[in-house]
Amino acid sequence: MSYSIIDTHCHLDIIESYGLPIPESLENSRNSGVKKILQVGIDLNSSLLAKKIAMEQSGEVEIFYSIGYHPTHNFQDSEKKEIQKLIHQEAQDSKFVAIGEIGLDYYHKEVDEKTQKSDFREFIELSIEKQVPVIIHSRDAEEDTYQILKDYKDKAFGVIHCFTYNREYAFKYMELGYYISFSGILTFNSAKDIQDAAKHLPLESVLIETDAPFLAPTPFRGKRNEPAYIPKVLEKMFQLRTEDKEKIEKTIYKNSENFLAKRRFTC
Ligand SMILES: [Zn+2]
Repeated sequence: MSYSIIDTHCHLDIIESYGLPIPESLENSRNSGVKKILQVGIDLNSSLLAKKIAMEQSGEVEIFYSIGYHPTHNFQDSEKKEIQKLIHQEAQDSKFVAIGEIGLDYYHKEVDEKTQKSDFREFIELSIEKQVPVIIHSRDAEEDTYQILKDYKDKAFGVIHCFTYNREYAFKYMELGYYISFSGILTFNSAKDIQDAAKHLPLESVLIETDAPFLAPTPFRGKRNEPAYIPKVLEKMFQLRTEDKEKIEKTIYKNSENFLAKRRFTC
């Protein structure tokens, strides 16, 4: 069974540092039906590298990139300025499709909440200025994330990546114009709230991703993840939803293409 899938969030550079070279990741991806990959930046170096990877790979898997400012990193002010400069510089590049990961993480406390919130707002405002979507990382911060996004309703848009909250929050974010993206966590037996959200959201708002090398789906849980494992997330979606498989696969693919084309989700 061969699928057509887009991995809307992964870190090929980190997968490589875990021992799997990028060309092999891409070869495995291709064999699993992965057509496109969004390579995500988390700081200045990884964002520059993401651009380089997107430019250099010319195989059958098309690669896009984002420029990010991850909320668990304690950035120097100079690095923040460089990241913002890079966003201004690349805004028109067709391979540059989003600002992120940005967001709030109250589980890891490397950066205080006040700083996280003001940085989050700063990058959202930049995304509005540049008319690009945001990729949001949010952990143990569902309400603050919602309150901030609400302040930019009808201006900012993007995706809640690796969604880990419940159905209520999935709908709240969706109603603000965000895609909800599900990772390998969806396949874990313990992930009842996340599965409940994936089951009930309008299909048009759903994306899937690996966040590889992290969060490998069942039966690879605990191992190094790679984009080639993304069919497991899609197959879990087949199990949870009532639409036929083809409709689920095609709709999620189309949603992902819209996202990569910097188009907002509209409900
Ligand atoms: Zn990530």
